Amino acid sequence: MNIIELHDSAWRQLAARRAQLPHALLLSGQRGVGKFDLARRFAESLLCEDLGDGSRACGACPACGWLAQGNHPDLRVLQPNALVEGEVTEAGDGEEAGKKKASLQITIDQVRALDEFLHVGTHRQRARVVLLNPAEAMNRATANAILKSLEEPIAGTLFILISSEPSRLLPTIRSRCQSIPVQVPARATASEWLRQAGVSDGEQSLALAGGSPLLALELGGKNERILLDALIAQVSRGRDLEPLAAAAILDKTVKAEKRPAPLKRTVDWAQKWLFDLTLASAGLPPRYFLAQASLLQRLAKATDARKLLAFNRKAIQYKAQCEQPVNSRLFLEEFFLNYAKLF
Ligand SMILES: [Zn+2]
Repeated sequence: MNIIELHDSAWRQLAARRAQLPHALLLSGQRGVGKFDLARRFAESLLCEDLGDGSRACGACPACGWLAQGNHPDLRVLQPNALVEGEVTEAGDGEEAGKKKASLQITIDQVRALDEFLHVGTHRQRARVVLLNPAEAMNRATANAILKSLEEPIAGTLFILISSEPSRLLPTIRSRCQSIPVQVPARATASEWLRQAGVSDGEQSLALAGGSPLLALELGGKNERILLDALIAQVSRGRDLEPLAAAAILDKTVKAEKRPAPLKRTVDWAQKWLFDLTLASAGLPPRYFLAQASLLQRLAKATDARKLLAFNRKAIQYKAQCEQPVNSRLFLEEFFLNYAKLF
């Protein structure tokens, strides 16, 4: 099963736009659902020069060959360098501040480099496609530069914006895009997709990933799992948690992470943990951490709904804070000190 079969409905919506291509599409959906892969497949199908009766790229023509090598002259993929190089540490952590960091944002230089691309004719007389992934990784200047391109659309040129957080895009950008939501696939379909991808505990990974199959796949690998397991090891301790030691351990893990926004991802996981703890305190089964169901029940007995509610409110602030450059060690210390107070 491939990404197109996994997202059959979104794919059909995309294919329906083929006859009269809009200037911009916005593919939105939760993290790890497969938006980027789907967008990429759509771009490929627009550039393929031997599209058969279906709507999928043939994989055999010269255009498909360049696409496979990542050098088709009519496709540009704009994403933060951090996503491409995998070389980044959380912005603002003191010790690393001296080193040059791969950008977490799509930079203005990347957008400026589009100018020439957009203003010479297409190389292969088909569409010209620009993927922006993730679109929320644009700062104000970058977004305004892109907005200009969207305001003065160029024939045959399609911008595909990909976003897990479309509410963070400029409204003026959103309004110029045709929106295609990419839903979480049905549980059975996603499980089958994961099984075919070689994930054995698909159900558990899928629950952890909130139903996002690509994130579930990532959880099978070591990267995200290291972060998550480090967090679980600490939050599981409840009353026995040593907040400062826990913060030190997590901080080390976060700093060793090569991919973007490890602190933010940690907070995301922590929020899911709290969500499950809140469910447990109401006597309900977990939504994300299936493997820890009985542990959650035990922890929930040691706290109460009022404390959980207060901490959940705090967690929303944490999420906003970690979008800013923060000292990750201090941030984690505060988080764990407050978490410990639950019990
Ligand atoms: Zn082809």
